[in-house]
Amino acid sequence: MAFELVTIPCLSDNYAYLLIKDGEAVVVDVPEAAPLLAAVAERGVKVRDVILTHHHFDHVQGLDEVKEGLGTPVRVIGCAADADRLPALDLALGEGDALQVLGADVQVFDVSGHTLGHLAFYVPEAGVAFTADSLMALGCGRVFEGTMDQMWAGLQKLAALPGETVIASGHEYTEANGRFALTIEPENQALQDRMARIRDARAEGRPTVPSTLSEELATNPFLRAHLAEVKKGLNMVGNSDPDVFGEIRRRKDSF
Ligand code: ZN
Ligand code: FE
Repeated sequence: MAFELVTIPCLSDNYAYLLIKDGEAVVVDVPEAAPLLAAVAERGVKVRDVILTHHHFDHVQGLDEVKEGLGTPVRVIGCAADADRLPALDLALGEGDALQVLGADVQVFDVSGHTLGHLAFYVPEAGVAFTADSLMALGCGRVFEGTMDQMWAGLQKLAALPGETVIASGHEYTEANGRFALTIEPENQALQDRMARIRDARAEGRPTVPSTLSEELATNPFLRAHLAEVKKGLNMVGNSDPDVFGEIRRRKDSF
């Protein structure tokens, strides 16, 4: 349990993360160099790896400046299938491929949907999953490139992780996500309670991430499309889980 997870606010609403063990660190996503380099300097850690979750500009644009600022070689890790849209990778991989960072095994999941080639990285020893714009706090990424079925299937992989898994996602969208979630499940007490905590956190300027998977399973409508009460509330009792997910996602797009 020597791992430390540091949440780093970047740009207007992005998050990068630093996972630290024994003075070494891995960076997950590089929206902006300055806050990342400051977090690294403050803790005096040596960054070994930079993981890129997906190709969107707001997750990769700080890479060159981070590399330059660190001044020591790092291994840049990302999705093989999306390598032509990502910065130059030192290690290109896909779902199920073996990966170790900080001496720990990492499980790589293809969670395409938001983009084709979006990966999530689960570090069992640290109890953390880096999900960026796939599973988000009370939400999920907009389905830009894949299909609703694909996005739902990707989220199901994350939903199967241990409930205590820390979900380190990519944006501070939680309060707006929660307002939407309440339109899907107005009676969900766990959701109402979570929203109260989120409003308090935001009023004090605190991040609402990371969250835990068990919180998401209890409150995140995008993980709850298979539930009878959710289908009933949407008048979609006979519909498939991905269809219900798709309906919820489309409603959120125009919320
Ligand atoms: Zn994105
Ligand atoms: Fe993003």
